[in-house]
Amino acid sequence: MPSAWFGPCPHCNAALSFLEGITGSRMNPICPRCRVAITVERATFVQADRSRRTPYAKVRRALD
Ligand SMILES: [Zn+2]
Repeated sequence: MPSAWFGPCPHCNAALSFLEGITGSRMNPICPRCRVAITVERATFVQADRSRRTPYAKVRRALD
């Protein structure tokens, strides 16, 4: 079942939307801003979160 969450890119801290389980999802989606692959636990499609203009502070998602 598709789900979405929002968080920062671990590389450039850009605000991103992470869409899990949709067509085009990958285990190593590419950040649209810094073009670096992001390792995820489930197949995810990443796109810029345009509703959020303020960059994240040092917030970490529980990816590790
Ligand atoms: Zn990035």
